Amino acid sequence: MSLDRLTVVVAAYNEAEVLPMLHPRIVAALAQVGVDGRVLYIDDGSRDGTWPTMQGIANGDRRVSLLRLSRNFGKEAALTAGLDHVDAGAALILDADGQDPPELIPQFVAKWREGYDDVHGTRVLREGEGWLKRVTAHGFYRVIGRLSKTPIPQDTGDFRLLSPRALAALRQLRERHRFMKGLFGWIGFNSVAIPYAREPRAAGRSKFGFWKLWNFALEGITSFSTAPLRAATYLGLATAFAAFVYAVWIVLKALLWGDAVAGWPTMMAVILFLGGVQLIALGLIGEYLGRLYEESKQRPLYLVDSWQPAAGVSSAAI
Ligand code: UDP
Ligand code: MG
Repeated sequence: MSLDRLTVVVAAYNEAEVLPMLHPRIVAALAQVGVDGRVLYIDDGSRDGTWPTMQGIANGDRRVSLLRLSRNFGKEAALTAGLDHVDAGAALILDADGQDPPELIPQFVAKWREGYDDVHGTRVLREGEGWLKRVTAHGFYRVIGRLSKTPIPQDTGDFRLLSPRALAALRQLRERHRFMKGLFGWIGFNSVAIPYAREPRAAGRSKFGFWKLWNFALEGITSFSTAPLRAATYLGLATAFAAFVYAVWIVLKALLWGDAVAGWPTMMAVILFLGGVQLIALGLIGEYLGRLYEESKQRPLYLVDSWQPAAGVSSAAI
């Protein structure tokens, strides 16, 4: 009987330092489970020695496939590229920096064998990350959980195993603005969380600074919710109602006590306030319109510079 195929998918951007530490850990973990284990590394347009490092790893291990994108497309596109190149079996996504411990792979596989399609790691502890990142991440998951109709598990990153049918489902989603956490939730099927403590980065620096994370959060919210547009409607309604009440009061006041031509400050305040509200609403529409524009261009999600499939081994040799 042939073994189930499991491909570990690792997207890396400038991770030359950590990959040589990561690979033996993955290999050791795969050896513990009876699967036809493969590893696929994606070089997301790195500028350091990541590609030669990957080639070195692939030369020494026939189960390793390599994919290099034509430039840096970002983690979400890199993962999409990787998952597109997994031709059989299940896939397990892992960060290159060792923050998602490969030692948990046997637990993920055990859940897969129990029949789950989406096994994801949920962080119960984040080490080596500042309080600001932890607090904002915590807040973000709560906000998006409220706003989005798609269930998005809290404190869950991209560390997950997808069964073949979940993988096939995910491949059908070709939107340009890819908020992977949401896409995983959208496909549904049986999912289960595995709690784990997130370790600090093995080496190198995080690629996600605050500005990038802020944009990532906006991406998530606009990709999975139109609630902000509705909020603009309600804000408009509330302002109009308040303005109406105020207008009635001004007229009554003028009728009762006369009008001593004052009101420049009130006028300014109201005009500026309304101007601000209108600009916010316009900006909101613009956010969605911009995404529509990106989508309408129908560009490919990524371009491949080179693809080096695993030389392959018979499953018995593992
Ligand atoms: N990554 C990528 N492309 C990018 C940025 C990051 O493939 O443009 C990869 C990176 O190499 C790592 C993973 O995404 O494997 C997570 O990145 P990082 O550790 O910097 O993020 P953090 O854990 O700090 O959120
Ligand atoms: Mg990391």
